[in-house]
This record gives sequence, C-alpha cells and structure tokens, in this order.
Amino acid sequence: MSFSTLGLSEPIINAVTELGYTSLTPIQAEAIPLALKGKNLIAAAQTGSGKTATFVLPILEMLSRGVTQRKKRARALILTPTRELAVQVCHSIEAYGKHLSLKSIAIYGGVDYAPQKQQLLDGVDIVVATPGRLRDLYTQRAIHFDEIEFLVLDEADRMLDMGFIEDITKIIDTLPDNRQNLLFSATLSRQVRELAKETFLNAIQLSFTKENVDKPDIDQWLITVDKDKKSALLSHLINEHQWQQALIFIETKHGAGKLVSQLGKRGIEAEAIHSGRTQAIREQLLADFKAGKIKYLISTGVSARGIDIEVLPLVINYDLPFPADEYVHRIGRTGRAGASGQAISLVSRDDFKNLCMIERRLGHLITRKEIEGFKASKEVPISVLNFEPKHKPARASSEDKHTSTISKSQLPSRDQRPSKNAGSKKLPPNPWNV
Ligand code: AMP
Repeated sequence: MSFSTLGLSEPIINAVTELGYTSLTPIQAEAIPLALKGKNLIAAAQTGSGKTATFVLPILEMLSRGVTQRKKRARALILTPTRELAVQVCHSIEAYGKHLSLKSIAIYGGVDYAPQKQQLLDGVDIVVATPGRLRDLYTQRAIHFDEIEFLVLDEADRMLDMGFIEDITKIIDTLPDNRQNLLFSATLSRQVRELAKETFLNAIQLSFTKENVDKPDIDQWLITVDKDKKSALLSHLINEHQWQQALIFIETKHGAGKLVSQLGKRGIEAEAIHSGRTQAIREQLLADFKAGKIKYLISTGVSARGIDIEVLPLVINYDLPFPADEYVHRIGRTGRAGASGQAISLVSRDDFKNLCMIERRLGHLITRKEIEGFKASKEVPISVLNFEPKHKPARASSEDKHTSTISKSQLPSRDQRPSKNAGSKKLPPNPWNV
C-alpha cells in the first residue's frame, strides 16, 4: 500500500517520496487512515515500526489545513520520555513537513530555558517535549495549552517507567477536552492501560508488537561467558569479525566508562553515551556515530532511546536489561524498516534471571554460542520459559542501578529446569551449547 492512497496532501507525499519511502509499514497502513478520521488511538508498537510517521503525518496534514499559531500557544503536543527522542521526533517533523510552513520545537531539560521560551513566544505549531521541562514552562506561563488539538504520548510505557506519571497527568488535566489523542507504547502494560482509560475515551486499540518481537530479519544469539571475561570477549569478537559499527548496551554509566577504557587498552576506540555526559556532548556523539566517525558506541538504555540510524547492522547487549521489553527495544535498533541485523548478547550467570524473563517474553530460547577460550566457568542454566521470579530485579531505566545478581537459591532447582529438549516445539535449532 502506498502513501498516495491515504489522501495526504501533495507536499507531504512529496516529502516522504524524497525520503525514499515507497510503501507503508503495517502500523502506518492501519493507523494513519484512522488518525486522519480524528479517532483516538492506542497502539502497541515498537521503535522501528514506522510509528513516528504514523502520528506525525496526520498531524501535519490536519495542521496544514488550519491557521498558524498565536504566541505561547501550540496546536499539537507530543510527549516523549527522553530529550534524544524529542529531538529525533522533531527532526522527523521537519523532514516530513519540509514543504509546509509549520513550526516545531523540541523542549527538554538540562539546557537553558531562555531559547525555548523565546521560540514559544514567537509561536509554534507543534511542541515535542519531555514531561518535566514542559510542566516547568507551563508553570512559568511560558506556554498555554488552550489551543491544543492533538496530544501524542510516544513511548508511553517508557515515560511511566521513568516516573513521569504525575507530570503527564498534570499536563493532560490542563489540556482542552476537545482534542484528538494518540498513544504509542512498546507494551500496553497495566499502568499504560490505566493512563489510557482515564484520558483516551473511545480509543481504538491496535497492536503491532508481535511482528517486531519475532522480526525474522534480526538474527539473535547469545554467548555465555564469565562476567569478568566480557570485555576481553568483546575485544576478541570485534577483532575477529572486523565489525564496522556496533551499538553496545550496558546497564550503568560507570560500567560504560570502564568498558571504554578496557577496550582502549586493547587498541579499540569506543565512546560512551549516558546521562552523566552533557547534552551537547551526547548530541555530538550521536551525530558522529551516525556519520560513521565513531565505530563503537557504548550506551546505557536510556541514552539510546533517540538513536535512529537507517542501517545499524549490529547491536550488542553487554549485559541483559530488565524489564524484558527493554531487550526488545534494544534489538529493534537493528533490522529497522526491512534491513537485516544481528543482536548479540553476552550472558553471564548474573544475567540469568533477566535472560529467563526475556526468553519468556519472546516465547522461545535464544540460540546459544560458546567462543573458544571464553567458556563460562559459572554455567548459565537454560531458562524455564514460565519462570516467575519471587523478587524482581532492578529496573534498567535507572543508569545508576547495577544489574541484579542472583543467589543459588533463586535459581530453579535442577529438576525445575527443563531437559535439553524442553519446550521443544518452541526452541530454535541450537547446535552449540545446550
Ligand atoms: P520509527 O519507528 O518511527 O522510529 O521509524 C523507524 C525508521 O523507519 C526511521 O528511520 C524512518 O525514517 C523509517 N521509516 C518510517 N516509515 C517508513 C516507510 N514507510 N518506508 C521506509 N522507511 C520508513
């Protein structure tokens, strides 16, 4: 199905054509016509599904038909969990709206208020914002919401994970009732549903997650290794495979810095991106990575949210995240919009509990490999796909929390563990280590 079937105006069709988009992604084909009819939508969709265009194109279409904005007012409000994602969405708005004269602004914390206030004073059509800074600006009367016609909650689950619920509900309370609402979330968790129930009346619910989770073009595998051998293994893999570029996820900012120096000692240049670095540096690192000037970027989960690179062949999980959806987000960084990619996880015994939850979420075990010279001395057991931990591990959203460790008593006992053929129908071929 092509963009011309949607009834979008010529300037928008031309912009997407110039970007090389030839056909609609599944979420675009289903959700854009509904959004153009003014429906409220709640969509389970991951990064990489084409969700940004799904909400941006209808908003551009509808705003371009109306009048331009008054001072300190906007007509569309898009809330995102991180500044990187806010900037990314703003770039998409500029790209899709390049033949229109609509103005947009990205608003986020950690930078001066003054330029943001000035831009709002000049008048904008679309505000893309992180909830905390937006609420600050509202309190300072730098923005009024009385003319908002569209509200988008992008990566709603992530915003709730990051503790933005109060900011979000306070902002929503001040919006005009007569508006269209669009919510996008990797998962429709209980919290997300509750938020939607209160504010998204008569919303149509759509789900596109299955396709993403089981994306056939992402080759996923894991290597079992002792925790203290991970950096040596990573260096070995980089040298052995001569990988041109990789995004490497790690849980803590401390760990990210340490890994940069460990790789450096082995002659591999890498950079770390995390919340401890200034906004200007983070933006520069992202730009350099996108331009191919940085080959290996080590990122905490939060920082990686806004990374959108057309062809990223390789994602490495240096450790495994919690919750399991975070893993799905991470691997969604590769194999985007039809390209193929690899997602490799380095898994030590400490990661076992997170591994169980990830494999349970995927509904199958991830193919295992063992690399000669790096055989794990602490065995990583085979996941029990229906394993429910008594105590949930720390969330990945906090960069300062270290990956949880598990004691022997928390592991499933030998007879709880499946045999080599357990869950056989669901198991992928696993020629290496299990
Ligand atoms: P998103 O899920 O919005 O983060 O989009 C993921 C990537 O897919 C971005 O790089 C978009 O530029 C790209 N994209 C979105 N829609 C299409 C499409 N219909 N055809 C090709 N690429 C697309």
